[in-house]
Amino acid sequence: MTSKQCIFCKIVKGEIKSKLIAKTDKVIVLNDINPVAKVHILIVPKKHIESVSALSATEGEDLVEMFKVATEIANKDKLSAYRLSFNAGRYQHVPHLHMHLLAGSKIQWNRL
Ligand code: AMP
Ligand code: ZN
Repeated sequence: MTSKQCIFCKIVKGEIKSKLIAKTDKVIVLNDINPVAKVHILIVPKKHIESVSALSATEGEDLVEMFKVATEIANKDKLSAYRLSFNAGRYQHVPHLHMHLLAGSKIQWNRL
């Protein structure tokens, strides 16, 4: 998939309207449209990177920013426990790198 067809690139560019929780020069943050936990937030780099397996050394700053923003949200929302997760292969449905921030008493990640 090219970045032109990519749903997260379209959200980054504002071609698809989406309510963002936060935005920095490197990432956008939004609630997952189909949550699997009480808190299910996506942290998405603005740069189109296909997956964790397509990362290169030049993308280190994008990754650091994703983890930094996740920590800031967890602190702001006073999350005492949370999980940060990346899917790959058949577990990944959107081919644009994204980090899931999950919290709540139940995480029901049944769909593959
Ligand atoms: P993954 O299976 O790791 O690729 O996760 C993709 C996630 O993106 C899923 O949890 C979807 O529910 C979510 N998702 C897909 N489209 C949107 C959208 N337009 N806005 C918010 N979340 C979305
Ligand atoms: Zn993309």
